Amino acid sequence: MKAGFIGLGAMGAPMAGHLAVKGLLQVIDNRTRNKADALAAQLGVRAAATHADFAGCDVVALCVSMDADVLQQATALAAVLRPGSVVVDHSTVSVATARKAQALLAANGIGFLDAPVSGGVEGARNGKLSVMVGGDGADLEIARPALDAYAARITHMGDTGSGQATKAVNQVLVAGINEAVCEGLALGEKLGLDPAKLLPTLMAGAAANWFLDKRGATMLAGQFTPGFKCGHLLKDLTIVQGMANEVGLHSSVIEMARDHYAQLVQRGEADSDTSALILLKRG
Ligand code: NAP
Repeated sequence: MKAGFIGLGAMGAPMAGHLAVKGLLQVIDNRTRNKADALAAQLGVRAAATHADFAGCDVVALCVSMDADVLQQATALAAVLRPGSVVVDHSTVSVATARKAQALLAANGIGFLDAPVSGGVEGARNGKLSVMVGGDGADLEIARPALDAYAARITHMGDTGSGQATKAVNQVLVAGINEAVCEGLALGEKLGLDPAKLLPTLMAGAAANWFLDKRGATMLAGQFTPGFKCGHLLKDLTIVQGMANEVGLHSSVIEMARDHYAQLVQRGEADSDTSALILLKRG
């Protein structure tokens, strides 16, 4: 198995690191070149000069930002990968993008899996991501040794797009939890409660959750280093809202959270962690 990785941000860099530790990683790339050069030197792999450098890969994983980035990479890889190889997209994008990427790679006999992830940067760093996969089962078996390098759980949800559909459900829960935690902690501040007592008390009861555990203390300390960027959650919620509209689901959670993250992006917080939502809650 020879693997490549494209998109070396908060998630992609540690995921690529796990592939390198397993001895599977050959070549990496990133939009900003010096990030790829630095990580390649650190991991002892090649930084791609052109997409042709991925030609020998059995599996190329993507963890880029937006739908257009996935389609750009899928188009470029379709021209160089050999039939039978598989592109795995870990970015969060729309079902329509997953289907387009699958079709353009399939035209050259190359497999495609939409395989968004959940577990945050902590999950990426400790190799414990939940991977939700859409696409052909045989392609998943080809890619599985790579996914095993950074997954706690790999679930084959169904056909192309079903991984992204699952991630959309995940993001409704994430958005709702963020709203509740940020509002609760803003209330705690206004009531003058001691965070050193409040956080462990909440974590010991029925309100415990990942976001409170990982971001509670940092948001109360005014630290909003991502993590997961507000701009990315706004992208996700825009996708999710489109899907909810298509199936006739009225979701007040999606609407409220999308409005809040749009406000944060407008205030210049696009690259802040999503826990910056507490800034709005404080009023
Ligand atoms: P990030 O820190 O912004 O990293 C994105 C990386 O992709 C950057 O290094 C960027 O390069 C690179 N990139 C973007 N477009 C590219 C292109 N067209 N070609 C090559 N490289 C490109 O984002 P992230 O937090 O790692 O998230 C990546 C994806 O995973 C997003 O779709 C996000 O929604 C999703 N996700 C994130 C989390 C999380 O907790 N962070 C969790 C699950 C899923 P530059 O250096 O030029 O910016």
